[in-house]
Amino acid sequence: PVKMKIYNTLTKRKEEFVPITPGEVKMYVCGPTVYNLIHIGNARPMIVFDTVRRYFEHKGYKVNYVSNFTDVDDKIIKKAIEEGVDSTVISERYIAECKKDMESLNVKPATTHPQATQEICGMLDMIQELIDKGHAYAAEDGTVYFRVRSFKEYGKLSHKNLDDLEGGKRSLLVSGEDQKEDPFDFVLWKPKKDGEPYWESPWCKGRPGWHIECSVMSKKYLGEEIDIHAGGEDLVFPHHENEIAQSEAANGKTFARYWMHNAFLNIDNKKMSKSAGNFFTVRDIVAKYDPQVVRFFMLSAHYRSPLNFSDELMEAAKNGLDRIRTAAANLNFLLEKAGAGEATEEEKKLLKEAAGYAVKFDEAMDDDFNTADAIAAIFELVKFANTNAGADNSAAYIKALLEEIKELADVCGLIVEKKEEMLDEDVEALIAERQAARKAKNFARADEIRDELLERGIILEDTREGVKW
Ligand code: AMP
Ligand code: ZN
Repeated sequence: PVKMKIYNTLTKRKEEFVPITPGEVKMYVCGPTVYNLIHIGNARPMIVFDTVRRYFEHKGYKVNYVSNFTDVDDKIIKKAIEEGVDSTVISERYIAECKKDMESLNVKPATTHPQATQEICGMLDMIQELIDKGHAYAAEDGTVYFRVRSFKEYGKLSHKNLDDLEGGKRSLLVSGEDQKEDPFDFVLWKPKKDGEPYWESPWCKGRPGWHIECSVMSKKYLGEEIDIHAGGEDLVFPHHENEIAQSEAANGKTFARYWMHNAFLNIDNKKMSKSAGNFFTVRDIVAKYDPQVVRFFMLSAHYRSPLNFSDELMEAAKNGLDRIRTAAANLNFLLEKAGAGEATEEEKKLLKEAAGYAVKFDEAMDDDFNTADAIAAIFELVKFANTNAGADNSAAYIKALLEEIKELADVCGLIVEKKEEMLDEDVEALIAERQAARKAKNFARADEIRDELLERGIILEDTREGVKW
């Protein structure tokens, strides 16, 4: 069988993918902190790793895909205080919104979407284990720190050497943290402040540090050793480095075999980020462009190359997607005319040639998920179909070409057969029906209507003034 290659941040090399369990992939993707609508920078890892997952599935692997929601965090608490609500109100709201955005971008739901606040018990266990093994210690005020010097391989992912960092270590000290044994030590558990959510623990009433949740949830849902751990490149240090230290110190096993990181989505060559304020939410963008165009745009570059967001590139993405959709529409039209009929010998030969583009597609994807080249292979197939399909071809032949285009596009999460657009009054009628269904507590029907509209690219938002779409 053909070998898949993945660039591993840990070794800085493309390596052949060998799964822990044959035919299965266990992967964990760090998800968003839920205090706001996600921006299209956050959408990059979602789309990229969803495509990675889809490709594994296309190759016949069973994929167990876990992606968390960080639902306890300073920014969530701050927002909750501003709005005068419980922080779970904020996190639940933005988890729901995030799921809507993922759905509109045709990102499959994870096998499991764990939430930090639901996994505190597991975190307490792992922290205790780290203390017992000498890898962590509690300070006087109840803060628990990971003892970085106790984990000899610290720095192996980010290729940093603690001794090289030594000079800058003063800057790592934040006020009030002089109780650390070493400036590199990081927080596993911290005491609550007034008005903050907290949990009981052997050390103090408090809450977890950020990194521990992923070590715990990955172990719980995927096991001590996993195939792939992924996220944006800003997570390499310290987040993923700290996850490795926690997991490997606690479990005594390799945490993840392959570490994958996507490059940034930039705007004017600067990282798009909430804190810098230079962002567009997914919601803003899908109001302006078909979400499928957003997806196409993201996959038009290799995931390890920085990508600059611009209207020009979005236009190019729109044209690219249209080219594929037009070809699919033409084939559908020919199919309707063609009636029944077997492929002729001549057509079978052509189909063999067409299958070569699927091979090319796979070769590109096998090479560290080169979606740019994979899409180029789809374009070649589209061109082939445009030149080699006509009114005198058999239905079987046309159908085979159409299926091949659809299948390759689907690996990229691209839907090439556009559903007909709905008239405004039909949308309004469905919304009214949904409202009536909800009133009658027929939530199944209400959800069905929401999904039906979503499939047509219509997102419903329940606001105080009524339903917006
Ligand atoms: P956050 O909510 O900031 O923890 O981000 C969630 C995910 O989005 C992480 O995997 C980040 O690395 C990723 N991410 C955030 N901003 C960007 C960006 N501008 N480009 C690509 N990925 C990003
Ligand atoms: Zn994580």
